[in-house]
Amino acid sequence: MVLRLSSTMRRLGIITNPAAVTPTLISSTASFARNLNLPSPLRNHHLTSSICFLKSRSLLSSFSSFSSSSAAYLPSLDEFASTKGSVRARDDNKKVVLKGMSYASLQEWVESHGFRPGQAMMLWKRLYKDNIWAQDVDQLEGLNKDFKRMIGEHAEFGALSFKDVRSASDGTRKILFTLDDGLVIETVVIPCDRGRTTVCVSSQVGCAMNCQFCYTGRMGLKRNLTAAEIVEQAVYARRLLSHEVGSITNVVFMGMGEPFHNIENVIKAANIMVDENGLHFSPRKVTVSTSGLVPQLKRFLRECNCALAVSLNATTDEVRNWIMPINRKYKLSLLLETLREELSSMHKYKVLFEYVMLAGVNDRMEDARRLVELVQGIPCKINLIQFNPHSGSQFIPTDEDKMIKFRNVLAEGGCTVLMRFSRGNDQMAACGQLGMLGATQAPVMRVPEQFRTALKASV
Ligand code: SF4
Repeated sequence: MVLRLSSTMRRLGIITNPAAVTPTLISSTASFARNLNLPSPLRNHHLTSSICFLKSRSLLSSFSSFSSSSAAYLPSLDEFASTKGSVRARDDNKKVVLKGMSYASLQEWVESHGFRPGQAMMLWKRLYKDNIWAQDVDQLEGLNKDFKRMIGEHAEFGALSFKDVRSASDGTRKILFTLDDGLVIETVVIPCDRGRTTVCVSSQVGCAMNCQFCYTGRMGLKRNLTAAEIVEQAVYARRLLSHEVGSITNVVFMGMGEPFHNIENVIKAANIMVDENGLHFSPRKVTVSTSGLVPQLKRFLRECNCALAVSLNATTDEVRNWIMPINRKYKLSLLLETLREELSSMHKYKVLFEYVMLAGVNDRMEDARRLVELVQGIPCKINLIQFNPHSGSQFIPTDEDKMIKFRNVLAEGGCTVLMRFSRGNDQMAACGQLGMLGATQAPVMRVPEQFRTALKASV
């Protein structure tokens, strides 16, 4: 049975060593399938039945077709793009969560309780402005007593519970928050030079995208974060660390999760963050990053004026299909053509391409030359990122000399290039290192033949 399962998995591009097909992996694969909204025969089977279903010809064919269709093992994006699982009303006490509301909604809510719009603005400012960052009704100084009583009775201030903060040797801080359902998310604060400090927020618990170089991707997806849970990460970071690290000026949606997989709440949160009467981040300094969900990317560009980053990481479909399985659904050519078209009508807007450098995989000089060609006609900057290793990772970081040579080829080709080295590595706070693995993990994809030596892959 193990051999049959192994050979089926080999065809799927999932780990191919029969000895590695342990019950844990079988369980992981089945659980991953459940998480990812797979066809029901796959979704409904647990450990034992995950073995049994392979006996059935019809179920086996479900499994095969799910694997061979380009990205069928990815979740149904339309379903996840809805608010399902993302707006967690506190049904227990019917209180509204203040930080999940845009200013317009807050004003409407305040008026519905018989108070004036001006009072809504006073509340909004105490939530987000002037270093108040109110956490409870007692911190609403200067507000009318009846108004405060109403807020105390009908509203919640917090969406997150602080759990811990860890400091890395380079000054990076990782904040851990517990959610109402006990899940844990991570937020990273990165002090930089020139008075710039960035908070990196999570948009989901775990992630469904299964990028092979990313620790969070190994977790699979647990759930979307609400807009309030996203906004509060930035508010809390300011409240907790501003006195130590200075003003937090930038936000990047590059923590746990694929932001466009939770686009409704991400756009809502980003719009709250840039409100000039509130947190007042500059839209140019709020960057939302995606692995390349094309329809959501178009929607974002039309509905939000914040900055966009696209995690590219490969110059061929062959490599990108492997290291970023979303590419099986939205190919490089479609992704880049969409950006070319959408950005052509946007004034002075540049996309940031992120490129995590993996030794022997995507860091050859021919990759650099191909990258120059691929981004032709797209207003962009390219950010070369040093890969951050983590336990169980099969990739090796490109050394700095080679990164510089790669950068030089891009620069000679006319590209604007930045280089980013690891931050927060010693506290697992660096890019692609967030989260905690549970008993089940997303499957490891098969390493294409020509990269096995480079990775010293034992397949
Ligand atoms: S890199 Fe981003 S999109 Fe890819 S698995 Fe990690 S968190 Fe998800």
